[in-house]
Amino acid sequence: MRHIYPRTFFAQFTGGESSQEYTKVIDALRQHTQGVILNYSAEASDISPSHSQDAMLAAAEDSLRIISEGVQACGTYEKQLRDNHDKRAGQTFVAVKPSGLIPDPYVLERATLALNELHGWNNTLPAQMPVESVSDSDMQLMLGKAKLSNISKEDLKQLAGLYDRMRNICGCAYDNGVKILIDAEYAKFQPAIDVMFTLLAEEFNYDRKGNVSQTVQPVVYNTIQCSLRRSEDFVKASIKRAQEKGYTIGLKVVRGAYVDHENSRWAKLKGVGPSPVWGSKEETDRCFDNVAEHLVEELASANGNTLGVLFASHNCNSAFKVLDLLEKHKLASRTSDNKVDPIPPIRERIAFGQLYGMADKLSSELSRSFTDGPPMVFRYLPFAKLEYALPYLLRRATENKGVLMGSADGEIPPAILERKKLFNELRRRFLLL
Ligand SMILES: Cc1cc2nc3c(=O)[nH]c(=O)nc-3n(C[C@H](O)[C@H](O)[C@H](O)COP(=O)(O)OP(=O)(O)OC[C@H]3O[C@@H](n4cnc5c(N)ncnc54)[C@H](O)[C@@H]3O)c2cc1C
Repeated sequence: MRHIYPRTFFAQFTGGESSQEYTKVIDALRQHTQGVILNYSAEASDISPSHSQDAMLAAAEDSLRIISEGVQACGTYEKQLRDNHDKRAGQTFVAVKPSGLIPDPYVLERATLALNELHGWNNTLPAQMPVESVSDSDMQLMLGKAKLSNISKEDLKQLAGLYDRMRNICGCAYDNGVKILIDAEYAKFQPAIDVMFTLLAEEFNYDRKGNVSQTVQPVVYNTIQCSLRRSEDFVKASIKRAQEKGYTIGLKVVRGAYVDHENSRWAKLKGVGPSPVWGSKEETDRCFDNVAEHLVEELASANGNTLGVLFASHNCNSAFKVLDLLEKHKLASRTSDNKVDPIPPIRERIAFGQLYGMADKLSSELSRSFTDGPPMVFRYLPFAKLEYALPYLLRRATENKGVLMGSADGEIPPAILERKKLFNELRRRFLLL
């Protein structure tokens, strides 16, 4: 396989196989004032396609070790910059997919069904994805203490194992000054992931000395998929809960990678009412805009220092709309040379993200829009052994294939063109096998 997948292609979209390789990419990006969202892109099912329980458990433990090394490497890099009084030292992120840290990812689907049972939601969930924030009984379930028909002892054990691994990663991130982004996955996994996020936020997005501090940076972020109808209400409920309980909240905002998957699943389930996903791209765009506006308003409010936000998108309109919102809400001003100058706390509480190797023009334009200082733009940088990373990239491109066709008037926006190229290239190389 190593001979078939050329290194040049691998290098264009990933940070390589090891910490020595990705640290070089991190440093090169920092020369352009861009930070990273490091992501170990191998998943248990890639590492251990035999699906034996023991092998999958070993793969999940291995992922934990490799992700923790990544967290340490990012923390060390940032610390060196700070020690050298380098003004480009700033935030750094590591993204984690919960399904890659559990031997059987479908436990997350069964946990979602158990949550339905607890709440009396429709059993074919996600019907309307839940918008209310989590309750104490949800927490009990995730801690493996619930007695429910939809979940077995073995599943509860796996959930407890996942929670332990996530806690381990968040603890390591806390110690190294790194932020953890929990990626959003299929809607059928998501309610269980939301509860897991809340448990972790309650523990790590606090001042560890036990004070309810209003200025603590969130260590752990959840991801909001604006392609889901629930997103605006869900964001509001999540923020309200965090404020009531006194922890800070971090949110990564995306449009969502699984639109086609969710719609066909919904059709197969013959679900009651509309699919959990918006019926059109325009509605998803409107939802993204509304969520962005709400979050910037929150950042500008008296509660602004309890929030951290990362807007992850290749859509230029979305990125530049956020810049306008920052100015509108007096979180940034324009300098005489037309640069955006965020007020100091905002530099640490807002960020933009694009995938490494894609939308390069947007990333550089965006980072050049800001005055000198710590990065505001972060590149999602996957790393893994060559043979594990390419299936991940292929899946990523396949997930997006429904939007590779462009708009109805035939115009193909540049970001979509880039993805189309990636998809075609991956498919061509994959079919060579
Ligand atoms: C740094 C980074 C991190 C990411 N992390 C995640 C993650 O954790 N989870 C995740 O799911 N995705 C994630 N994504 C992918 C993201 O959700 C989008 O799929 C991708 O970025 C394309 O959306 P866009 O805003 O960049 O571009 P655009 O081209 O403006 O939007 C494309 C998106 O619009 C939506 N859309 C298209 N057609 C329709 C339709 N008919 N009906 C409803 N909606 C439609 C879909 O969400 C589609 O992906 C991430 C992306 C980046 C850049």
